[in-house]
Amino acid sequence: MPDRRSFLKTSALGAAAAPILLDGCTPDSGETPESDARSETGVRPVALSTWDHGLAANDAAWPILTGGGSALDAVEAGVRISEADPTVTSVGYGGRPDRFGRVTLDACIMDERGRCGSVAFLQHIMHPISVARQVMEKTPHVMIVGQGALDFALANGFEREDLLHPDAAAAWERWKEENGEVTPRIDVNNHDTIGMLAVDQAGNLSGACTTSGAAFKYHGRVGDSPIIGAGLYVDNEVGGATATGWGEAVIRAVGCFLVVELMRQGHTPQAACELAVERVIEKNPDWRSIQVGFLALGKNGDHGSFCIAPGFNYALHAPDEGNQLIDSGSRI
Ligand code: ASP
Repeated sequence: MPDRRSFLKTSALGAAAAPILLDGCTPDSGETPESDARSETGVRPVALSTWDHGLAANDAAWPILTGGGSALDAVEAGVRISEADPTVTSVGYGGRPDRFGRVTLDACIMDERGRCGSVAFLQHIMHPISVARQVMEKTPHVMIVGQGALDFALANGFEREDLLHPDAAAAWERWKEENGEVTPRIDVNNHDTIGMLAVDQAGNLSGACTTSGAAFKYHGRVGDSPIIGAGLYVDNEVGGATATGWGEAVIRAVGCFLVVELMRQGHTPQAACELAVERVIEKNPDWRSIQVGFLALGKNGDHGSFCIAPGFNYALHAPDEGNQLIDSGSRI
C-alpha cells in the first residue's frame, strides 16, 4: 500500500501547484516577490528534479526560467550541476564505474518541439547531457553510443577527462572484494539518476535525464535513462515524465511514455505515476526487490510522483513555493 503520510503530502502539494496557468492571463498584484516570475501570459515556470541533488539543479535552472529563458536551456544547465558533482554517485563525475572500473554514462534530452538527442555508453566526457543536446541539434540522429559518441563529443569541443573519482574507485575495489561477479540491483539504496522537467514562461516543456547507470554493471550495459520513452518523455501538448531506479524494469514498461500517455487520457500527473508503477509491478515479478520511481509534470504545471518503495524524493521549484524537497508516495 502507499505510504499514506507521504502520499497525502505529495497529493496536497501536487494540488497546490495547480493551476499554474492563471485565468484570464492576468498576473496578480505581485505582493510576493516570486510572483514576478510569471510572464506576461500568466504562465508560471516550474522546475522539477529527482532526488535531493535536484535542489541544486533547480537552483541553476531557476534564473534561466524566471529570466525568460527556455525550459530546454534550464534543464540542461540544471542537470550539469549533478554531472559535475562528485558526491552524486550515479551521475557523471563521481558516478560508480562498471565491473571493469570504467565510468560509462547515459543521457538524453527532449524539447517542446519533440526534438530529442541521446548518448549512451559514453566514456570520458563530464557533461553527456550537453553532448546529447548537440546530437539533437547538429545531427539527423536521435542517439549516438560508445566510441562514436566519444568521437562526436571530442569533434565538437568537449574535453576528454578521467571521470573515475577516488571515492568511486575505492567503492569499486570494495565491490570486487566483497561481491566478485554480482552486479547489485538498483533498490532503495543505490540509485540517484537525475531526471529534470521544466516549464518556462512561454508555457513550453523540456526534460533531461543523465546517469552513470547501475553501479558495477556489465561493460556496455545501458539502462532506461538515455532511452526516449523509457527514462524520459516530453509531449508539449500534455506534459513530461522522467524515471529513476532499476532501468531494466522501466524499459520493459516503456515507463515515461506510459506516464505521458496516461496524462493524455486525462489522468493527473499523480495518478499517471501511480498507474505506471502498477504496470511496472505487473511486468516484474521481482518488484519487491527493486526500486522504480516516476516524476511527472503536466502542461499546466501540476506535478506528481510515485515509486515502489519508500525512499524516493524530488525537488520542486515554483513561484511562491520556493525550492523544496518532497517525499514521493510509494506502493510499499
Ligand atoms: N535508472 C538508472 C539506470 O537504470 C539508474 C538510476 O536511476 O540511478 O541506469
